[in-house]
Amino acid sequence: GLEDWTQAEMYMNSFLLPETDDALEMATKKTVEGGLPVEIAVSALQGKFLNLIVKTTGSKRILEIGTLGGYSTIWLARALPEDGELVTLELEPTHAKVARQNLEYAGLGNKCKVIVGPAYDSLKQLGSDEPFDFVFIDADKQSSLQYYIEAKRLVGRGGVIIIDNVFRYGNVADPDYTDPKVEGIRKLLKALKEDREVEASAIGTVGEKGYDGFLYMVKV
Ligand code: SAM
Repeated sequence: GLEDWTQAEMYMNSFLLPETDDALEMATKKTVEGGLPVEIAVSALQGKFLNLIVKTTGSKRILEIGTLGGYSTIWLARALPEDGELVTLELEPTHAKVARQNLEYAGLGNKCKVIVGPAYDSLKQLGSDEPFDFVFIDADKQSSLQYYIEAKRLVGRGGVIIIDNVFRYGNVADPDYTDPKVEGIRKLLKALKEDREVEASAIGTVGEKGYDGFLYMVKV
């Protein structure tokens, strides 16, 4: 159950993450103080995993959909080279404000641009002239397919697209569940079955965020 999984993740953290991390601790504190739902941010271990993928792929331009308080944004932006850039899309002005402050405090303000508004509208404004290398989708799951289609338009060949929360305690595979988030992921999966423009896999995870997982896609 969740308690054991949390304990197992904390055990990993004790070996794989630094004991203190001022910028991330401050980001979490400000997210809580701002009344934002801190529990829906990625875990530290997941954040570092995303950070390592950015480094491994040598990504220079990152797009994030769903900023919240900028916790995952900090992990992602930290992996960028000196001339790297990150654009993150957030619906709620209050979330964006907290995120901007957190990014500033983390010394990443100059690399990161927080765009406020419905992500789909913001995506439509972005041109593919300067392609992204890496996209992290973590917003309203109902819109997963639309976000995926836009992300695919905006990444170059070899570009990586990751979508969080695609297992949802196994509910995505359970026909008894028909809530819009679950249906949103199913719609995306159906589209991927026929899609020849990406290669995709998924990795299920258990930890402090419960039983969930990432979809991982590469544009071919
Ligand atoms: N990626 C963040 C992290 O791990 O630290 C967590 C993001 S949280 C799961 C989802 C965010 O998406 C929330 O801040 C929410 O306000 C935002 N969101 C919801 N609907 C949105 C939309 N239509 N456009 C843009 N952002 C949206």
